Amino acid sequence: MENKFKFYNTLTKNIDTVIPHEEGKIAMYTCGPTVYHYAHIGNLRSYIMEDVLEKSLRYVGYEVKRVMNITDVGHLASDADTGEDKMLKGAKREHKSVLEIAKFYTDAFFSDCAKLNIKTPEVVEPATNCVPEFIRMIERLLENGYAYQAGGNVYFDTSKLEDYYVFSSQTEKELLVGVRDDVEEDANKRNKNDFVLWFTKSKFEDQALKWDSPWGTGYPGWHIECSCIGIKHLGEYMDIHCGGVDNIFPHHTNEIAQSESYLGHKWCGYWFHVQHLNDRAGKMSKSKGDFLTVSRLEELGYDPLVYRMFCLQSHYRKPLEFSFEILANTKAAYQKLVKRIAGLKEEGEPDSSVFQVYQERFTQALSDDLNTSMAITILYDLLKENTSDRTKTDLIRDFDRVLSLNLLSAGGMEAKEEQDEELTAYVNAKIEERAAAKKEKDFAKADAIREELLTKGIVLKDTREGVVWHKA
Ligand code: AMP
Ligand code: ZN
Repeated sequence: MENKFKFYNTLTKNIDTVIPHEEGKIAMYTCGPTVYHYAHIGNLRSYIMEDVLEKSLRYVGYEVKRVMNITDVGHLASDADTGEDKMLKGAKREHKSVLEIAKFYTDAFFSDCAKLNIKTPEVVEPATNCVPEFIRMIERLLENGYAYQAGGNVYFDTSKLEDYYVFSSQTEKELLVGVRDDVEEDANKRNKNDFVLWFTKSKFEDQALKWDSPWGTGYPGWHIECSCIGIKHLGEYMDIHCGGVDNIFPHHTNEIAQSESYLGHKWCGYWFHVQHLNDRAGKMSKSKGDFLTVSRLEELGYDPLVYRMFCLQSHYRKPLEFSFEILANTKAAYQKLVKRIAGLKEEGEPDSSVFQVYQERFTQALSDDLNTSMAITILYDLLKENTSDRTKTDLIRDFDRVLSLNLLSAGGMEAKEEQDEELTAYVNAKIEERAAAKKEKDFAKADAIREELLTKGIVLKDTREGVVWHKA
């Protein structure tokens, strides 16, 4: 296979060409959601970019098998094994059982993914399905001296590894030694970074789900699930492991520690990490409570695919700041784009040389560390190209295998939206007028504008990310 598909590998700190363990096939793993709340659009940035990575690999000719876990037990409020189980927190909040919460938010997650055209992985496995496998893996780690029992829990012994901080450079390693000083000490741990594989004694005795094990009734730690589910479905060698950058330490570091100690050899060669989506207050996170969801975007009049395009326009390794202003611009650009595409007639002769040139450019952009904004630029170049409409629509259909923006079918839908364009322009002008009045401290005028819009059935809302509006 001639592909030279490259991306930034967090493990080597280089842009590496992917060479899979088995020629032509990619074994890919994604850390799935912790299903105690809705996914926020930050989480979904990671899943959108991972979806583009998977589809790009398929586009350049790989066969991909992708596995995702669903975290429905063991993820404690702090990644350092302290605090309450997040699932229990969700159940208490909503006066439901943990299983009800897990089912509800797993369904909600896949419904959001469907709206964003994120493909469901070949295998999706909830952690609670795999307890016997976790127990087997922990038994082997104990037998081989990589784990120990203390105070009722089983811990991984990080001192048994030559290099525990696999993702860090030497200087970062020195800094990392002190990084967890603020974490409440667990007196059972032999080393500061040892982590729990199996809990029978945690501070939160009211954990809802517990299983029998050789070490007593309890529940698994969070990290073990990804090692186990990955090995269960992809075998001893994984090619690409993905997640958001917050997963690098400790989650992915601990996954490598467990998996390689268990297997006795290197486990996964390429680590793909997506930078965070931030709002003005910093990283968007579920625990902060106040976060944006796909449904909220829809309520505010945004097609979820506008958010997908928003993500594709920026590079996955750059932090992305969310604002409604940029989203509104993206909405306008998306509407214009699909309208322009809808105007193409599937007529004329396909021009194979133009087709090939564009396919190569598109492949090149994706293979170059997933340059999605360049891929979109190529789409715009194509629309300007002097070639038949047939060639254009054939290529757009081809590109949309990766971009997944419904480029050829959204046009009809957008005609309806067009009626709203005039209203949007009017409301935006009023919002600007109101902002100017506020700046001048003319609050009476600002309030009058809000009232005037209200009488026309338009509700304004001031949010951290700017002013948004919807029909009453
Ligand atoms: P969780 O449901 O909290 O386990 O997170 C699911 C995925 O979303 C993980 O891969 C996280 O690394 C990722 N993630 C969490 N917060 C953000 C954010 N603000 N921006 C992008 N990805 C995120
Ligand atoms: Zn994971």
